[in-house]
Amino acid sequence: MIDYENLGRANHVLFDEYREAFNKVLESGWYILGNAVKQFENEFAQYNQSRFCAGVANGLDALILALKTFQFEKDDEVLVPSNTYIATILSILHNQLKPVLVEPDIRTYNIDPVKIQEKITPRTKAIMVVHLYGKSCEMDTIMSIANQYHLKVVEDCAQSHGATYKNIRTGNFGHFGAFSFYPTKNLGAIGDAGALTSNDPALHENILTLRNYGSQKKYYNEQIGFNSRLDELQAALLSVKLKRLDVLTEHKRKLAKHYQQELKDDFIKPHIHSDYYDVYHIYNIRHPKRDELKEYLLRHGIKTEIHYPVAPNRQKAMIGILDRQPTPIAQEIHDTTLSLPISYFHSEADIVSIIDIMNKF
Ligand SMILES: *Cc1c(COP(=O)(O)O)cnc(C)c1O
Repeated sequence: MIDYENLGRANHVLFDEYREAFNKVLESGWYILGNAVKQFENEFAQYNQSRFCAGVANGLDALILALKTFQFEKDDEVLVPSNTYIATILSILHNQLKPVLVEPDIRTYNIDPVKIQEKITPRTKAIMVVHLYGKSCEMDTIMSIANQYHLKVVEDCAQSHGATYKNIRTGNFGHFGAFSFYPTKNLGAIGDAGALTSNDPALHENILTLRNYGSQKKYYNEQIGFNSRLDELQAALLSVKLKRLDVLTEHKRKLAKHYQQELKDDFIKPHIHSDYYDVYHIYNIRHPKRDELKEYLLRHGIKTEIHYPVAPNRQKAMIGILDRQPTPIAQEIHDTTLSLPISYFHSEADIVSIIDIMNKF
């Protein structure tokens, strides 16, 4: 049996260093917003080539807090890709704003820059781009539209740690890069964690206040804030994993290259272009008989996943909110996409055997 993911195996090489980091935090007696958080924030800002990084509780909170800083008015509109994970859309709704769906490019699965302009109205205030599966969006076109219409840009980087577009890391194009360190993400913690990168000192300061009850000086509250803090333990473990992130990414890219070169052309494979350094949080293919293929692979001992089975506008929670915005391209992706094993613990031999079985489908 080849698992889709097994974090115990994927993280195994880090266990000794994790235990050391854990003991250090335990014995320090300081568990929330301390030196380990500061150290990780500095390391991650440096890794991401960003001026600032603020740790928060999770990826959804990072998105919510980023939008919060702009103080938009109720029902202002925010553009968002129609095939994103639900969290991006929830962050808009939790700010009392209106999500406006923009269809993706069927080749890249990312927001189609050509379709952005036609969705802009006088109420449009921001674009949330999502670097889905670990591939950056086409950021130069998107930023020139955003500048032309004075829109704020929040990048959902939950799947794109280390990915670049024209040699610039995601999280540096817009006002904020919102990262999740959910355990399965390329840079994953051992629990919930997230962060916001930015290159603007005022925006960064605002996040430091909002994440901690609207306060930077203890018991003095300047804003209506949240409790969304990164804890010392997760930060210390993330610092350990961050040192290995490039090795992990290179491993995933090596596995992706096998799929890309050796899978037969019946499977629609990810788009490759020299402007993009993709980090393959997910390696997906598309096939018209996706469900049959998934069953076939399972019969042959290979577990796969679907990211995602239901389009946001078809979710029960979105009845009356998104269901009047038709999204045929997102639907096509949701109906045909299949995510193949591509974890750190998979060997090249695992991937070669998966390819062999897939090519007989
Ligand atoms: C995982 C993910 C999130 C949410 O992150 P959490 O840490 O689980 O809150 C947001 N957006 C995308 C695209 C994600 O994949």
